[in-house]
Amino acid sequence: MRATVLYGAGDVRVENVPDAHLIEPTDALVAVSRACICGSDLWPYKLMKPGEPPRRMGHEAIGVVEAVGSGVRTLKVGDVVVLPFAYSDGTCAFCHEGLHTSCVHGGFFGTVELPGAQAAALRVPQADGTLVVLPVRADDALMASLLTLSDVMGTGHHAARSAEVGRGKTAAVVGDGAVGLCGVIAARRLGAERIIFLGRHRDRIALAKAFGATDVVSERGEEAVARVRELTGGLGVHSVLECVGTEEAIRTAIGIARPGGAVGRVGVPHYETIPASQPAFYNNLTISGGPAPVRAYIEELLPDVLEGRIEPGRVLDRVITLDEVPDGYRAMNEREAIKVMVKP
Ligand SMILES: [Zn+2]
Repeated sequence: MRATVLYGAGDVRVENVPDAHLIEPTDALVAVSRACICGSDLWPYKLMKPGEPPRRMGHEAIGVVEAVGSGVRTLKVGDVVVLPFAYSDGTCAFCHEGLHTSCVHGGFFGTVELPGAQAAALRVPQADGTLVVLPVRADDALMASLLTLSDVMGTGHHAARSAEVGRGKTAAVVGDGAVGLCGVIAARRLGAERIIFLGRHRDRIALAKAFGATDVVSERGEEAVARVRELTGGLGVHSVLECVGTEEAIRTAIGIARPGGAVGRVGVPHYETIPASQPAFYNNLTISGGPAPVRAYIEELLPDVLEGRIEPGRVLDRVITLDEVPDGYRAMNEREAIKVMVKP
């Protein structure tokens, strides 16, 4: 079968690999109908060091169950399923607490350990706990929005929840990628009265406004902080969704948070220590977040997608075939595309 392999910085290839197959009795084999390239795939695409082992990429997908192991109880061949970016058993203490990304039998797709979803098919461990059956056909018109439940919509929602967005509050979103844009949807959905979007690309700003952003700040760094403070009467915002992961982004997030406010960070941190600890301390900020337990959020967000109340699929602004994946990485890396959908 065809699958995406990252060999080094800038070196991503689509190759013939052995067919995915069941290994454990709790596995399912899923034929991929739709996959994505993720902003987080760009980190190893840019920074993978020589000598690191090749990696089979992809952690977002909708597909059709092709086979199940003898221990699988809730899935059957032919089910249309959405894949959370992490697998989980659904039964351990952390899964019961809704923190499936910390599952004691869990792990992540598209890693050195587990081949990913930018492929014709993939093996899904802990299939009963991991996969969610969708009440649609694999060619449904809602497919793009349903696909975002794999990662970006759930991650934007996690940023908003971690930032304690609520009715009547002011929120700000740092990051104009797919997660930041989904963060706007999530902040509005959770009742934010005002949503300040930090971004500078015209098409992304337009989408953010369509999703509910009320204000746009295109400055960066200290100037962005000053501008957000100006917009909020000098106070700052209650809730900051940090959807980038760079030191500059977290510094901006802490700079624009109002005393007593919260920063929800979902950008994979590319810094060792959280900067700006003095203002964070003196302003009594809550700094929260981490990998989103999207498995927990799928059930919460699915009705809104199915009933058309939210349309996160609009962040997928380019569709390619599996063999075009290397160009998809290039397009996202050069910010030509917000997010790329792959149709194997
Ligand atoms: Zn678990």
